[in-house]
Amino acid sequence: MQTPERILIAGGGPVGTVTGLALARAGIPVTVFDRLAEPAADHRAATLQPSTLDLFAPLGLTPAILREGIESPVFQWRDRVRDEIVAEFDYRMLAGESDFPFVIQLEQHKTIQIALDAALAEPNFTLIRPVEVQAVRQDADGAEVDITLPDGSIETHRGRWLIGCDGGRSLVRKSIGASFEGFTWAERFNIVATNKDFEGYNFRYRNYCAHPDRWCALMKVPGENHAGVWRCLFPAHEDESDEYVMSDQWIRERFAECLPGDAAAIEIVHRNMYTVQQRVAGQFYGGRMILAGDAAHVNNPVGGMGMNSGFQDGLNLAAKLVQIWQGAEAEPLLARYDRQRRLTAIKYVQAQSIANKKTLDEKDPAMRAEKLDALRRQAADPVAAMDFVRRASLVAMWRESESMQ
Ligand SMILES: Cc1cc2nc3c(=O)[nH]c(=O)nc-3n(C[C@H](O)[C@H](O)[C@H](O)COP(=O)(O)OP(=O)(O)OC[C@H]3O[C@@H](n4cnc5c(N)ncnc54)[C@H](O)[C@@H]3O)c2cc1C
Repeated sequence: MQTPERILIAGGGPVGTVTGLALARAGIPVTVFDRLAEPAADHRAATLQPSTLDLFAPLGLTPAILREGIESPVFQWRDRVRDEIVAEFDYRMLAGESDFPFVIQLEQHKTIQIALDAALAEPNFTLIRPVEVQAVRQDADGAEVDITLPDGSIETHRGRWLIGCDGGRSLVRKSIGASFEGFTWAERFNIVATNKDFEGYNFRYRNYCAHPDRWCALMKVPGENHAGVWRCLFPAHEDESDEYVMSDQWIRERFAECLPGDAAAIEIVHRNMYTVQQRVAGQFYGGRMILAGDAAHVNNPVGGMGMNSGFQDGLNLAAKLVQIWQGAEAEPLLARYDRQRRLTAIKYVQAQSIANKKTLDEKDPAMRAEKLDALRRQAADPVAAMDFVRRASLVAMWRESESMQ
């Protein structure tokens, strides 16, 4: 088969869609494949970091994101044991470093839809769904995917490059033989959404409430028609069955011990349980197949960094593929992509998300006091607070990654 001048993307989640948009805008024909008929409205990423908003601006995505989302400049750490606010970090410190010194709280499927609307307006962008990418392979000249159509028939598509944006269980990653070193957290996380408004209780729109046994995270997202929905993230104990963790009873017990108000009266509008891992692929490309987003790295959601760092991968990679398209030698550029994105994934996203989780649930009383004190000191010292906010917002990650050779 001749190799069409086209780039294939397995996975039309947030990272695949935005990467495809960037390539199509640069004049490169791109085909994205996804198994879902439409973006899943599950309660995954809620937070778009300043670094992402800066990257989205040249793609023209920020006006819709700002319109649809909730602006949230401050996030809060609390101690549930002493029932007190430990620290607040204000992203407005980033003015001068970012054109958007705040996060936008917006449901992941709405972010995807905004990017998708923009991409579908591009003549170079093709989306094929719902189809299962069931096999991938490559040769010196290009890469191929076999997709299963809804009627069960199989089609083969070929292009110059294949980008694996196919999530944590990536077939593309497995096909290049990349390791996926790391670990799985013992506890499962239950994400519960409610219409109850926690705004009157001194919460911000992003809150992390530390407790050695029952910590929680609390976020506001727009919901339907900007009516507002609060998402509560609760860890389940290892000896609690999945069925119990998903029950009204378990959820109401968590509401009662973690959050203010009458737990029995809180309406539960959504619940979903996740197993959470910390892993980074040993290589981000192999020949003509390249990984981005969760296909390349996964982390716990505390801090709101996984999808945001995936956008950085996708846009860094798109810029390099444009250079390759224009005749630059591929290997040095892809090797640089690997260094830039793999090393910073470990240094920033893995390190910070693990530290966040360990601060939230530290069990040793002395260590716990020390970690919470460290947060207090960081928030009180403008230089330390700026350093923390640059890392939390992934502004530091993007700057370091872009400066690496
Ligand atoms: C509870 C929770 C909260 C989170 N909160 C945040 C947050 O606030 N901020 C943040 O930055 N991140 C957050 N994350 C992480 C974020 O959801 C992920 O990092 C993000 O979804 C990764 O995007 P992706 O496009 O790389 O992969 P995915 O979102 O997994 O998308 C992969 C796509 O590929 C498709 N696909 C996969 N395999 C195939 C196949 N074989 N054939 C066809 N299609 C296929 C899937 O249908 C899917 O659409 C959270 C995650 C969880 C679980």
